[in-house]
Amino acid sequence: MLKKNRLFTPGPTPLLPQAQTAMASYGAHHRTADFRALFTRVLAGVKEFIGTNNDVLVLSSSGTGFMEASVSNLTSPGDLVLVLTAGKFGERWTSLAKAFGCVVETVTAPYGETISLDEVRRKLTPEIRCVYVQATESSTGARHDVEGIAKLVRGLPDSLPGTLLVVDAITGLGTTHLDVDAWGIDVIIGGSQKALMIPPGLAYGAISERAWQRMERAKSPRYYFDLRKERKSAAKAETAYTPATSLFAGLAAALDYVRQMGDGNLAAGRDALIANAELCAAMTRAGVEALGLKLFAPRSPAAALTAVAAPAGADSTAICKRFREQFGAVVANGQAEMKGQLFRIAHIGYYDYLDTVGVLAALEHVIAEATGNAVEFGCAVRAAQEVYSKAVR
Ligand SMILES: *Cc1c(COP(=O)(O)O)cnc(C)c1O
Repeated sequence: MLKKNRLFTPGPTPLLPQAQTAMASYGAHHRTADFRALFTRVLAGVKEFIGTNNDVLVLSSSGTGFMEASVSNLTSPGDLVLVLTAGKFGERWTSLAKAFGCVVETVTAPYGETISLDEVRRKLTPEIRCVYVQATESSTGARHDVEGIAKLVRGLPDSLPGTLLVVDAITGLGTTHLDVDAWGIDVIIGGSQKALMIPPGLAYGAISERAWQRMERAKSPRYYFDLRKERKSAAKAETAYTPATSLFAGLAAALDYVRQMGDGNLAAGRDALIANAELCAAMTRAGVEALGLKLFAPRSPAAALTAVAAPAGADSTAICKRFREQFGAVVANGQAEMKGQLFRIAHIGYYDYLDTVGVLAALEHVIAEATGNAVEFGCAVRAAQEVYSKAVR
């Protein structure tokens, strides 16, 4: 059969056609009124999408660039930081903080689990300058309780220098409810190739007043990712360096699309996008379990993606290969030492009912062939249908 190439990976995600057209036709120079208007529109849209009154910035880099900025701009060598980690992206926080000379304390949970709030409470002392965590750990499919963590951090005595909360919500934004200002998140980070449906190359985030003040004292080296410099330029509707102009054009189109989803209200559109991811995820979990497969993060599954443990005797590398070769579907394998043990199906951004039902139908064939066991065709699809029909009734 004909195979369409489809991404089911937790970044990059499928591209919004309107954004592709906008990117292809954009050719303005970045120091022009044209770009300044686009830039201003994008910053305002990102602010509504995140749902914050804090300053927002959009950097030309992948998401990790903003993660690095939130270490280099907020810490000095020798600072004590607390990393909450339960997967490869949590480990990235540890590596980044160490690269800038921080002393790293961790709260860890096994892959597939989420962070224990009790353990966070035990390790949280006023000496900790920053707490770093993921909203959704894309390597395992687990969702962390950012609200619960924020309550603990904000409950600290408000002594100087205080403790900042930094959330990598690169797959969390647009898939998960995050009340940034009410919870007191100091830095929240997103990436263009996730829920905003455009290619990789832009990272965006919101920064609290507390965090801006910290930057005045923080001594870690920084140059390209000097957020104070970006903020000064942004006040003049410019970027400090040459921005990825065509991606900005794509981002504007994507934000327009989200606004349309909310009948003219961008925040409502974002909530509809979150509800969409939640429903795709619930359908997928039901389908996977109907096939007798086990979720990799069953206790706290994210709406961003569903991670599925490879069935006994099957390797997820072979499962991903079958998806690709037989159906043109790119499903993500486990990362690093999880390679072979799980596969991941994303629901971030531009996915709909037919994508979800389709990938589950393909999964029935893939599992039948990978395990050699008989599969009752339609069982995963039927389970997903039940979830869908209850949700929309
Ligand atoms: C995709 C992703 C990142 C960013 O990775 P980049 O490749 O730098 O864009 C960071 N954290 C999480 C949780 C992610 O899913």
